[in-house]
Amino acid sequence: MECDVLVIGCGPAGLSAASYAARAGYDVLAIDSLAPGGQLLYIDEIENYPGEEKTSGYALAERFEKQAVSFGVKVEFWGAESIEKRDGRFFVKTTGEDVVSKAVIFAAGARHRHLGCPGEEEFQGKGVSYCATCDGPFFKGKRIAVVGGGDTALTDALYLSKLGSEVHIIHRRNEFRGQKVLQDRVMAKDNIRLQLGKTVERINGDSRGVTSVLLSDGTELPVDAVFIFVGVIPNSEILEGFAALDKGFVVADSHMMTSVPGLFAAGDVRTTPFRQVVTAAGDGAMAAHSADEYIQNM
Ligand code: NAP
Repeated sequence: MECDVLVIGCGPAGLSAASYAARAGYDVLAIDSLAPGGQLLYIDEIENYPGEEKTSGYALAERFEKQAVSFGVKVEFWGAESIEKRDGRFFVKTTGEDVVSKAVIFAAGARHRHLGCPGEEEFQGKGVSYCATCDGPFFKGKRIAVVGGGDTALTDALYLSKLGSEVHIIHRRNEFRGQKVLQDRVMAKDNIRLQLGKTVERINGDSRGVTSVLLSDGTELPVDAVFIFVGVIPNSEILEGFAALDKGFVVADSHMMTSVPGLFAAGDVRTTPFRQVVTAAGDGAMAAHSADEYIQNM
């Protein structure tokens, strides 16, 4: 399949880029191996996306996609497998059709980091989870552990505190990385307890699922579920050896230009100090603008 602009990844960055490029008159294909929305699909409630008072990540994702499609973007459930540039064109192999394009906007996002402790893999789906909205409702009235100290851990601990009998936030440092407003809300919750300066050494369980976590101070904390929110890993593997990366994040400037002319990066996958839905959407708009300038000067 041929197109002007291929967008890889259909989270907020990719779908914004696709909408802007399609509105600028380009033939745009946006691909994602999963449902459009990216990490939005894991967010229970968003209250800091401009113009939206309070909405679910899923609802916002649907609106991003609907809007992109209304501008003529073609969306396909294909995963990108490899990328090459020859004679000024990009050749991208995907799990669907192979694609040839004039420019590529890489917005493949990031995935959950794992703890790597014993029991984590074994009890995945049996109490170990990386998604509060997906799995939280299974643990109504139960004891829940949340691991991590960033915005995701705090936001999702607040959500889980409405479901569980008690929520223990286990964080490796004594200070949270997450926003002050979220810290204040966490502190105000009667059923959230803090386990600071501790790590999870092992997740224990039996045939029915998780039963406890062993902490680095030797405490065995009885819990029925462990929600792990310890950051993200960029989905940039297919760019290794093709474009400049920094700790896996795609190096891109304020125009979203990467080390490869015609390849632009946007959203959580690129080097950026602040990863939010609004910054991802802004990156997408800028990437589409830069792709437009690049194609016009080809
Ligand atoms: P993050 O900000 O990178 O935080 C990851 C947390 O996990 C940190 O507290 C870190 O500890 C801890 N951690 C990392 N590796 C660990 C390990 N091996 N063992 C134990 N703990 C570990 O990730 P995030 O919270 O998922 O957020 C990702 C991005 O999305 C951020 O930019 C965030 O601001 C954004 N976000 C925003 C919102 C919002 O605005 N509403 C909501 C969710 C996410 P240290 O602090 O010690 O490094």
